[in-house]
Amino acid sequence: MTGEVPADDPAAVRDALVSWYEADHRAFPWRETEDPYEILVSEVMSQQTQLDRVVDAWRDFLDRWPAVEDLAAADRAAVVGFWTDHSLGYNNRAKYLHEAAGQVVGGEVDGVTPGEWPRDPAGLAELMGVGPYTANAVASFAFNNGDAVVDTNVKRVLYRAFAEIHNADDPDYETVADALMPPGESRIWNNAIMELGGVACGKTPRCDEEGCPWREWCHAYQTGDFTAPDVPTQPSFEGSRRQFRGRIVRLLGEHDEMDLDTLGHRIRVDYTPDGEHGREWLRGLLSDLSDDGLVQIEDGNDQITARLQ
Ligand code: SF4
Repeated sequence: MTGEVPADDPAAVRDALVSWYEADHRAFPWRETEDPYEILVSEVMSQQTQLDRVVDAWRDFLDRWPAVEDLAAADRAAVVGFWTDHSLGYNNRAKYLHEAAGQVVGGEVDGVTPGEWPRDPAGLAELMGVGPYTANAVASFAFNNGDAVVDTNVKRVLYRAFAEIHNADDPDYETVADALMPPGESRIWNNAIMELGGVACGKTPRCDEEGCPWREWCHAYQTGDFTAPDVPTQPSFEGSRRQFRGRIVRLLGEHDEMDLDTLGHRIRVDYTPDGEHGREWLRGLLSDLSDDGLVQIEDGNDQITARLQ
């Protein structure tokens, strides 16, 4: 794998994702701030806790210790007590967070003056309890100065979207993720690709429902193979059928009518009239849609056509 973006038009792939993210995304309060302290607290809390539950805990924490100086001056037992009361997982994380606040306030990171934050992943990783992933997230979201995030969600997206990754024996996610990220745009990019993995490209993909901006390029969308490193078997037969049903309805909405093979070739690249995913398979989908009152099928002498009802 080289450092190339595995796409003919990387700019279009990037723009589509950023536009999709900007048009609509889940509104977490830490996405509204560029304060490294507030972002670090959100990152540490979300390591073990569902994002929806983190929101209240994060707000309470910042009410109690609004700035890094307040946390550094706090009694460690109070911070640990807060962690326990809010069911935030391992108490060690609270201890490390408290320790990290002391490091920032005390100027214990090389080359950074007391009270200032390191601004790059390497400097942030010197803080107690801050691993490479968290360091990169804070560098991205606070300082727009990170590398491409590669977590489970991002791996799933890359694996499904790009055939080069999907077909590699040992996929080099980092190289592709870095090449894909628009230079100097880690804040929006990492937010956008993580949102894609969290909302549209989850274990059970919701490509059409969430209007995934990569459908026209996506290998999984075109082949119907939605397996991924953390989804070793096809998510569900129904899930996959639902994708194709959605696609048929969308295509028929754009055309008055379509014959079977034209439709088949448009909805999946591996369509072959007599193959496993051929006419028989497509007829099955169309008759389901017809039973649901969505599609009308006309069985002429020499060809089958479909149109929306
Ligand atoms: S089209 Fe579907 S499978 Fe492909 S990236 Fe989008 S959500 Fe994931």
